[in-house]
Amino acid sequence: MAEVEKLYISYNHVHKLCKGAAETIKAFKPDLMVAIGGGGFIPARILRTFLKSPGSKNIPIQAIGLTLYEEIVTPADDEAADKGTAEEEKLGMEVIRTQWLDFTTLESHALNLIGKNVLIVDEVDDTRTTLHYAVSELQKDVAVQAKKLGRENEKTRFFVFVLHNKDKPKRAELPVELMESGQYLAAETVPDIWIAYPWEATDIDLQTELAAKQGNI
Ligand code: 5GP
Repeated sequence: MAEVEKLYISYNHVHKLCKGAAETIKAFKPDLMVAIGGGGFIPARILRTFLKSPGSKNIPIQAIGLTLYEEIVTPADDEAADKGTAEEEKLGMEVIRTQWLDFTTLESHALNLIGKNVLIVDEVDDTRTTLHYAVSELQKDVAVQAKKLGRENEKTRFFVFVLHNKDKPKRAELPVELMESGQYLAAETVPDIWIAYPWEATDIDLQTELAAKQGNI
């Protein structure tokens, strides 16, 4: 059986991708990072080092957990699809929230998202389903909070950073104003193949060696 082609990435490479993206992200002046777990955690922490300006505070990192769940097509679903009923629309990817922002706690630390520049960090933009979910749900939640506090006139801006964007048709979109105003940045755009990240490796020496062979060091 032919070996499945994979793109191997080393920790050094992740570090350098974050460093390379930092200047562009600095111009956005992020107040707060939202890291999508687990792949966004390490890039977010590395990025924070490069975003820190002398004499200023570190940018707080909040974590959210999202899992992409692919629905299995059952015979009943097939029937529905044949008939073109509503279920057909629901087939495909579904995002499950495993962890979300605690707005009450954020509020008590003067950290709410209203009127802030929020940097969302994940490792890879594959079908874009997860990023679409994160941005649209955060936008909705901020709108609810702003309404509650009578602060609807304060605009919250979002910037999305990923290490890798896969060059492929996407299943979901990000807001047009975000894309058009340069508030989406992928450090690298790669073909549609599986990316093996260092934090998933069980043999880090082999991972680093394979990454080096591919020039991802
Ligand atoms: P989405 O399809 O929603 O853009 O990506 C969902 C999630 O699938 C990503 O956050 C990531 O955790 C995982 N994923 C997608 N493609 C890859 C890949 O090539 N390598 C790894 N390690 N994870 C991936």
